[in-house]
Parts: sequence; C-alpha cells; structure tokens
Amino acid sequence: MILNFVIYSLEGIFVFKLSCVFSVNMKIEKLFDAAPILNDPIYRSCLILASESRSPEIYGSRVMKDNLFIGTGRNRAVVHRYFKLDREIVQGYSNHAEVEAVLDARREGWDVRGSDVYSAGYFRNEKQLFLHNLYTCSVCIPYLERLGIKNIYIPTPERWVKRPIEEAKEEAKWFKGDSHRRRLQVSMKGFKVDDFKGLVNVLNEISL
Ligand SMILES: [Zn+2]
Repeated sequence: MILNFVIYSLEGIFVFKLSCVFSVNMKIEKLFDAAPILNDPIYRSCLILASESRSPEIYGSRVMKDNLFIGTGRNRAVVHRYFKLDREIVQGYSNHAEVEAVLDARREGWDVRGSDVYSAGYFRNEKQLFLHNLYTCSVCIPYLERLGIKNIYIPTPERWVKRPIEEAKEEAKWFKGDSHRRRLQVSMKGFKVDDFKGLVNVLNEISL
C-alpha cells in the first residue's frame, strides 16, 4: 500500500516535470521564431552570462577584438558592506556588464583599444528580453570611450546592430536620470520570457 503510494507520487512528479519542460520548450520555440537573434552564439552567451546577475535588470557582455573573444562580464556588485572586489574601475556599488567585460580583457593583458563590446539584457521583474535599437547606458560611455572601445553592438530581434562609440554616446544621453523607465520604454514588446532560467537551460544545451 505504502509502496503503491510512493510509486504514484513519483509518477506524479515525473509527469508534472515532463509537462513543464514541454510547455517551456513550446514557448521557447515561438520565441526563437520571433527573435532569430537567439540563434546567434554571441547573444546566447551574453544571456547565459546575464543569468548569473541578481539585479532587477541583468546584463551579460563580451568584448571582441580581431575576431577573438578577449573578455566577458556581467553586471554585479563590486562594493559591499562585507566585501570589496579588486577592480581597476569601480562605477559605484556595482559595475555594469560592459565595463566588467573590458576590465576582464585588460586583466588578461589585452590591449582593448579598437575592440567591440556586445551586451544583452533581461528585465527580471517585467520578465522581458531587452531587445532594442538604441544604446541606453550613459553611465558606461565615459569609461568605454576612455578605454578606446570602437563599437558597441546592440541586440534587435533580428540581429546585432553596430553603433560606433560616438553614436552610442549621443543616444545614451536620453537615458540619464530615470533610466530604468526609459529603457523599458524603448524595449521592443512581445519578447516575454516567464521562465528565464528555463530559457538559459535551453541555450546552454544548444551551446554544447
Ligand atoms: Zn552600462
């Protein structure tokens, strides 16, 4: 009797888990159709990096130079009541993904001048991929400019869009101040991902 109950429960869990995976994959399949950029390995790796962040807005970045990936980063706390991470640049309590990726490359001894930065994000509370066609971070511009970054790549649903640093600088001016609300305003609608962790699991499988 007890054994039957256990078997029944296990089956219940098994069936439940299976149906969850199924529904996640169905939604993700539609998402891949709506946002072909999800097929791009750089975009996928940026989202995987972002998934390690804990902020309401999470970002992952990669730096590329001469067709080589030379640095990765995600937005993260660098100064805390109990710890301080060793960083060449400290933007505040936390560093943005772009700057972390560039610092990562510099730590590895790369000359980052002339390199390109890719950055992708997700709004955790709104459960929405941040797909857009403007560069939206006025906070990072002075650092990226000073470090000699050439282009910033922005993810639209179809593909990455290149912005020379001067253009990115102009666009980012509008995002000073109430930047979270403004980023949400320019975020393209229809790219909701309720289960971001599920998406990242799928992306990790594809990456292999
Ligand atoms: Zn930034």
